[in-house]
Amino acid sequence: MKIIRETPYIWKIEKFGNMKVDAIVFTNSETIYSQEYHEAIQQLINVASLPGIVKAAYAMPDIHWGYGFPIGGVAAFDTDNGIISPGGVGFDINCGVRVMTTSLSYSEIKKYIDKLIKEIYNNIPVGVGSRTNFKFSVKEMKNIIENGAYWAINSNYGISEDLNNIEDRGKIKYTDFNTMSKEAIKRGSNELGTLGSGNHFIEIQKVGKIYNLEIAEKWGLFENQIVYTIHSGSRGLGHQIATDYIKILRDNLKEWNKKIPDKQLINAPFNSQYGQNYFLAMNGAANFAFANRQIMGHKIRKIFKEIFGTDVKLLYDITHNIAKLEEHIIDGKKKKLIIHRKGATRAFKNQPVLIPGDMGTSSYVLIGTEKSESLAFGSSAHGAGRVLGRRQAKRKLNSKDILTELKNKNIRIIAKSKGTIVEEAPEVYKNIDDVIEIIEKTGISKKIAKLIPIGVVKG
Ligand code: 5GP
Ligand code: MN
Ligand code: MN
Repeated sequence: MKIIRETPYIWKIEKFGNMKVDAIVFTNSETIYSQEYHEAIQQLINVASLPGIVKAAYAMPDIHWGYGFPIGGVAAFDTDNGIISPGGVGFDINCGVRVMTTSLSYSEIKKYIDKLIKEIYNNIPVGVGSRTNFKFSVKEMKNIIENGAYWAINSNYGISEDLNNIEDRGKIKYTDFNTMSKEAIKRGSNELGTLGSGNHFIEIQKVGKIYNLEIAEKWGLFENQIVYTIHSGSRGLGHQIATDYIKILRDNLKEWNKKIPDKQLINAPFNSQYGQNYFLAMNGAANFAFANRQIMGHKIRKIFKEIFGTDVKLLYDITHNIAKLEEHIIDGKKKKLIIHRKGATRAFKNQPVLIPGDMGTSSYVLIGTEKSESLAFGSSAHGAGRVLGRRQAKRKLNSKDILTELKNKNIRIIAKSKGTIVEEAPEVYKNIDDVIEIIEKTGISKKIAKLIPIGVVKG
């Protein structure tokens, strides 16, 4: 294997063996040669061998091991002779992040943080298998699946302005309810507006440093401002779709998948019936997730209105687990591609890019760049990226120490389970500042503002 250092933070693994294209990794010298990342890099090499892959297989600076495709992976496939793969999207279809901004300063709400997170915790179901106490009918589920955040706003969870600030306006049009299993729909029917567990969170933050005053002002961000972030996805419904289609492809496309280097890379030609069905079902789950975050975002907006009498705006809502139909210029020609971003954020020029760090350090708002469009199909990282697995975390850390650490930093937390506190401790993630530095140095997005956690709600 030949690794070429193209720039201080861009590494090229020249294609060899069955690779159809090179693999490009945005990272530092420690990561690229570290044993810890060996498996994830091997996964990227495997992805580079899949049919119809275009240009290169990319890894963002938060790369780590995932199901088949690495998390932090970006791969674009030709829509004529390329594939679509559930492993390239992930089990939590349209897991994503939204940031909402208030007009309040930290000093104005300082005394109310406990009250705020308690209200949030009491109004939004959180935790493993969190559910609502009512179920949507199949007919209403169809409406939700087809209309996403648009449905939520029509149902009084939001204002029409919100749609301007959601990726794809919160509704992907390529979907078909009939491609989704009864089981998936059933699971989703009492999950809408619920957070879930583990990595998912709601966080009240204050804006720390501003790096670009002009853009910050344009986006309504100012120092010491109170904002909140929601990280959640398509809940059990999305998980069921992923599970269903992995099985469907395994049962029906054995011959086609005979040569894949890892069985988790199971895929279908994008232009086949199976490929299209997965695409349509996956987009249905994505719409469900858009509605989900819209509902939670709006409920918290109402809590702010009740307590402080102030309005809340949506800065942006992004997805970081999805495969999307996009046009990009390849060799001077416009081409339709199916872009898999798994644990990666779209970062088109001038769009907000939202990258959470961890509950004890910070998160970032960035802006997409032209450079990102030319380097990696307009993509950026999606988080700090895990360094400690959940089991390892449980062995190494205890919740008492983490709670003390958070308390010392003046960060309030409500968590449904102690296990989550340990599994999601700041220590289990890479240092977000290192990840952001690589992003800045490569130019795949640019820092706008840092967000400091002050109150966290976890599953
Ligand atoms: P994922 O989608 O991979 O589960 O998580 C995305 C990123 O969210 C992680 O890489 C991590 O950096 C970040 N993250 C996980 N838990 C928290 C949290 O409680 N607060 C913040 N701010 N970030 C978190
Ligand atoms: Mn998720
Ligand atoms: Mn996520």
